[in-house]
Amino acid sequence: MKRKSTSDLPTPKVRKQAPVDDHKVKFSSTEKSAKTASPASTERKSILKKPLRSESSTASKDSKPKLTMSASALLKANTKAASKTQLLPQKGRPQPVPIAATRGDVTGGMGRKRRARREDKEEVNSGDDSDSDNDGEDEKDSGDDAEESDEDDFEGMPATVKKTSKKHTEENMAEAMSKILGSSLRKADASTPILARSRGAERKIEEEKMEAKARKAISNEKKRLANRDRVKPDYTGMEYEKKLRKVATRGVVQLFNAIKVQQKATDDLTEKVRPITTNSKDKVANLTKASFLDLLKSGTKVGAVTPTAEAEECLKNIAKYNQYTNAFVDLTQPDHIRSQAAEATRRWESEAAKSAVDGAVMGYKMNFCTSDLRTTCSSAMLENFKAPYTATAIELLEKAGVIMGGKINMDEFGMGSHNVHSHAGPARNPFRIIGRSPDEAKELEARSAGGSSGGSAAAVASNMCFAALGSDTGGSVRLPASYCGVVGFKPSYGRISRWGLVAYASSLDTVGTLTKTVDDAQTIYDIMAKEDPKDSTCLTERQRKAIADTINPIDLTKFSDQEVKTKPLLGVRVGIPQEFNVAELAPATKDLWRRGIQALKVAGAVVIPVSLPNTKLAVGAYFTLATAEASSNLQRYDGIRYGHQSDKNDEKDALYTHTRMEGFGKEVKRRILLGTYVLTSGSFDNFFLRAQKIRQMVRNDFDRVFSRRNAITGSCGNLVEDFENDNSAATRVHALLTPVAVSTAPKLKDVIGDQIDPVDAFLDDIFTIPASLAGIPSMSVPFGTCTKDGFPMGLQVISQYGDEEMVFKVARVIEEKGKGMCSEKQGEQ
Ligand code: GLN
Repeated sequence: MKRKSTSDLPTPKVRKQAPVDDHKVKFSSTEKSAKTASPASTERKSILKKPLRSESSTASKDSKPKLTMSASALLKANTKAASKTQLLPQKGRPQPVPIAATRGDVTGGMGRKRRARREDKEEVNSGDDSDSDNDGEDEKDSGDDAEESDEDDFEGMPATVKKTSKKHTEENMAEAMSKILGSSLRKADASTPILARSRGAERKIEEEKMEAKARKAISNEKKRLANRDRVKPDYTGMEYEKKLRKVATRGVVQLFNAIKVQQKATDDLTEKVRPITTNSKDKVANLTKASFLDLLKSGTKVGAVTPTAEAEECLKNIAKYNQYTNAFVDLTQPDHIRSQAAEATRRWESEAAKSAVDGAVMGYKMNFCTSDLRTTCSSAMLENFKAPYTATAIELLEKAGVIMGGKINMDEFGMGSHNVHSHAGPARNPFRIIGRSPDEAKELEARSAGGSSGGSAAAVASNMCFAALGSDTGGSVRLPASYCGVVGFKPSYGRISRWGLVAYASSLDTVGTLTKTVDDAQTIYDIMAKEDPKDSTCLTERQRKAIADTINPIDLTKFSDQEVKTKPLLGVRVGIPQEFNVAELAPATKDLWRRGIQALKVAGAVVIPVSLPNTKLAVGAYFTLATAEASSNLQRYDGIRYGHQSDKNDEKDALYTHTRMEGFGKEVKRRILLGTYVLTSGSFDNFFLRAQKIRQMVRNDFDRVFSRRNAITGSCGNLVEDFENDNSAATRVHALLTPVAVSTAPKLKDVIGDQIDPVDAFLDDIFTIPASLAGIPSMSVPFGTCTKDGFPMGLQVISQYGDEEMVFKVARVIEEKGKGMCSEKQGEQ
């Protein structure tokens, strides 16, 4: 059946896969068994790749970047070079008449030159898309040539000089040629006696040398331009997204439909939302209470609030709210939680607490490996998967005394923004349910908890646990935090080990936290942010120290003591990226953003507008890269080594096919197809490479606005001189303040199943994706509620790579000022 259906599909040539970082679901050699062998060490086979394998060798040939020119094209280009040569200003030197005459001989006269230019242009246009950007330069070049081609122009030097100098500033191909040919001409001038023997052999040799130089200049310049300008400056985000949409809708969705997978449809998901059965009318008094640390401060002496009491509170709330929120999927045995909490209480009482969070109950997203409970990634594929080891981040928390409350719901493999793509059913936003009777709650329409860490945010918001771990690839921690009214923190890429975090898109995946306060976020972060030799992308202690050394404390000497005491953000400059003020922004969100800016000013910060011009390109680039990496990372689920295995395993290919058809949900299949598509030889240059370029452009945008260099790359954008001379200091900032989402949590029914266009859904992450692409720290901090629907909203604080401290500093002010804040009446949605 599979063969039949896939044979309907166009068979793209697989060029190569994205770099994969297999270490996360890989098992250490000591733990390896036949059943649980390292996915990295085993050949990757997938239903998607298998039928295509035979074509891969041709694909790699086809996919060679066409940066060099054919011999005939070179000659034509050289012809252009020749005509340019005539036009170059030869300051203080005799006009290169003999050379011009020579070139005329070589090219066979002007008519031939024009034809050559036309052909050149045609050749450019007939090239594949991947070359088109570079060729765009060629077209421009040809156009200029057309203007310059008349010999009369040569007479009118001023116009040409002007053009040449303009070209010089544009650093285009003509400039490079002018440099090289200019020196050739000077040499030629110097050897006038040779040229004077106009038909002599020496002259021919000289000409040939110059021809070769011109050819080399053109080829080098083409390569340089190809590398520099693969993304056309006029290729807008809209166009890119249109292309992506075309791929996703026509290309991928239709392909996907053609496979006729057995799908979990909307109804299925809706059925899984369990009714509220609890009849408690109690309010969760401590939903907004202070952090665990604050609560326990008195614990050592008085014992009024103890880990035992806190654990009981969590268990009570789990019983009360979990059925509605569907946050916890697997729970630790309550007795086990109780006995661990009792031990921690004893430690606090004897002043031997392991850490500030000793005895706190935490929940972990289902994509963190734990040897105790299942690690399903909310997928049927891993429904019964129990990892043989525990993720490093969780091991560090356990060492600090944290108790695992259970494993939490998420979008399958982290793919989604509303936690609706889950084998365990959707998570629900608890925000307005807390403190209401079940009947009252039933009246309210369920809202999205955000995704993919929606379960983690819901669990923390309903105080089912002190804090939760999430993973953030493109906003999965920050978006749910904003929707549920909690703090969501994504540190710099590489700060926390990803060992044991199941891979979605390895170059973007980050361990993140969901907490009730900024302080809690910092406390947990400090525990987890450690070197880990098991994760090669995790920063070493040396690197951490080097990063810390690059952070200069804010100079407060020019402020009075009184000011310093009352204004926590004195000397801090905060940027407001203009591109985040999108048309889709709900008035209430805009209003709260404006109030956030005011709050920062009151706290002493200087707030200035900044520009991140490539923001609009980020979503398209993210979904190209994330799906490409996902298609590669998810190849390991083949039904052989672990996880789901289909019963229909009569032959090898069919086993892979059925296993993956049954095991993956709809959204994951869509992403695998999209990712495989963007890696095929036909679209690799056009999508994957282009997306990599955009990622770099987005990084540069950030480096250009921050007052610190990027501690990893050393980059300060492209204004090195300005940066070094402090010329741009006043326009550079320590942090950025943006919205997290365009609005409050949408209704679940509007985002579930086929209600939402898959590509439209991608746009939920427009504000969170840029920081993910750049790998820089950012935090979603609750900042009041929308007056109309009463739901919370977050503001996002972003800072330069490695500067988590600045995020905490600014976020604390936002947190403080946001308490009780409501959007203005006229700012309703
Ligand atoms: N919503 C984004 C996606 O689906 C981000 C998810 C994430 O950060 N895990 O890819």
